[in-house]
Amino acid sequence: MNFWTRPQGISALPGAYVLAVELFKPIAVSIRNGPPVSLAAGHYLYCGGPGGLRARIARHMRRGKAIRWHIDNLTEAGRVFGAWTFVGGQECELVAALAHLPTPVSGFGSSDCRECKSHLLRWPYSIMRTPKSCAE
Ligand SMILES: [Zn+2]
Repeated sequence: MNFWTRPQGISALPGAYVLAVELFKPIAVSIRNGPPVSLAAGHYLYCGGPGGLRARIARHMRRGKAIRWHIDNLTEAGRVFGAWTFVGGQECELVAALAHLPTPVSGFGSSDCRECKSHLLRWPYSIMRTPKSCAE
C-alpha cells in the first residue's frame, strides 16, 4: 500500500484506491436525480476502482474537468491530498475496511453497487495539519 500525492509513479495496472479529499466549503450533490444533499466542509475518503490506477487518480487530481462522476464535485470544489493504491484490489473491500466511518450521502459513487451504502466516507481526521497546541 502506497500513498501518492501525484500521479507520477502510480501503477497503470487495474486496482482500487482510496482518495483523500478536503472540502473547503460545503457543497450540494445530487444522487440519482434525488434532492441535493449538502456535504459539510471537511475531510472525505472516496473508494474507487476498478480501473487503471494511474489514469483514474490523475483524472481526480486534474483541475477543470467536466463533472461526470459524483466524486468530481468534491475534487473540483476542494483539494485532493492523494490516494492509497491497491493493485488488483476491489473498491467495495476498501469500503468494508473503512466501515467504522460515517457515510454522509447514501448511494454516492455506488450507483451500480449492491454491497455498499456509499463509496464516500466522512473522515473525521486530518493527516496534513499539526494541531495548534503542538505548533505553538
Ligand atoms: Zn461498493
